[in-house]
Amino acid sequence: MAALTGNLASATRLVVKIGSAMLVNPDGSLREGWLEGLALDIAEARARGTQVIVVSSGAIALGRRRLGLPKGKLKLEQSQAAAAVGQIALAQGWQQALAAHGLVAAQVLLTLTDTEERRRYLNARATLNTLLDRGAVPVINENDTVATSEIRYGDNDRLAARVSSMMSASCLVLLSDVDGLYTAPPGSPGAEFIELVEEVTGDIVSMAGAPVSGMGSGGMVTKIEAARIATGAGASMVITSGHEDRPLSRVLSGARATWFIAHGNPATARKRWIAGSLEPAGHIIVDDGAAGALMKGRSLLPAGVKRVSGSFSRGDTVAIVTEAGVEIARGLIAWDAADAATIAGRKSSDIEKLLGLTGRDEMVHRDDLVMTGKERT
Ligand code: GLU
Repeated sequence: MAALTGNLASATRLVVKIGSAMLVNPDGSLREGWLEGLALDIAEARARGTQVIVVSSGAIALGRRRLGLPKGKLKLEQSQAAAAVGQIALAQGWQQALAAHGLVAAQVLLTLTDTEERRRYLNARATLNTLLDRGAVPVINENDTVATSEIRYGDNDRLAARVSSMMSASCLVLLSDVDGLYTAPPGSPGAEFIELVEEVTGDIVSMAGAPVSGMGSGGMVTKIEAARIATGAGASMVITSGHEDRPLSRVLSGARATWFIAHGNPATARKRWIAGSLEPAGHIIVDDGAAGALMKGRSLLPAGVKRVSGSFSRGDTVAIVTEAGVEIARGLIAWDAADAATIAGRKSSDIEKLLGLTGRDEMVHRDDLVMTGKERT
């Protein structure tokens, strides 16, 4: 859909997910030429001012041959062992391909809880933001060797969507072995290609059919689930074939693809999520100066905090309340309750002296803050 290619061209922050079949030949070797082309696409995106995060599969596919594992379905521990071998080769491939364009690759291995559990979520996001600010290209995969079945994503489609949401990306590209979504399995009678999905409805979910297993673990079902997560977090998403060289350039020049329209933008989606979170775990009582600063869109610093109440952990939602008891904002707190109480009313530069550790300068960072203006009940 030509109209939406602009979302890719003008993305401020882009997540690109690469399936194993794109990166790895059937004989278990890396498709270096293809990777070089994608690295050039990434360098061009960066030159346009787009920050790029890569979510790359391929560790298991690269590792299994090197470890002499048989063809066919692997047991969980065999996949995990294969990933341990393949991830090194994968990281090395990315490092070389990106270095050819003067770009620094950063390996980030995530598990499900890193994007689900609040405290780890804040840490992962801060690290990724730091990497992006320094101009590095994060190359993310699931931490396959340690993830057990209960804490696994199992597929990188959903991992990429969670990363896209966590990082407030404006666009997510899934490079896949299919070129998009069809009304019925591609090739079957009457199967029509869908160029644009405005909403991930039940009909769309049923078009995805049954999960397919090939080299990767995704199939269309996880791609549709990824679309639901990413578009709900304010990113537009596109599924396109990654088989040809220079796949991002191809999308930009109108190659066949299915686009999913974003609901709102990442900033509003994130604020909606914070504002709509359940009962706050604590209250942060602030002085008038801090209340005024928050109204102007600033972060909440410890200096403006009079006291804290409730038992909360870093990453929990707290209500920010004036001394008169009026709730003015909600946000994700950067400190546990005990630490927050210790640094309340103090300068950020005193934090290390008071707690013996360096943490965040803010009590609640402005990206994690939403003004609510409700009366406290
Ligand atoms: N994390 C797996 C790997 O790198 C791939 C999972 C997937 O393709 O969805 O091999």
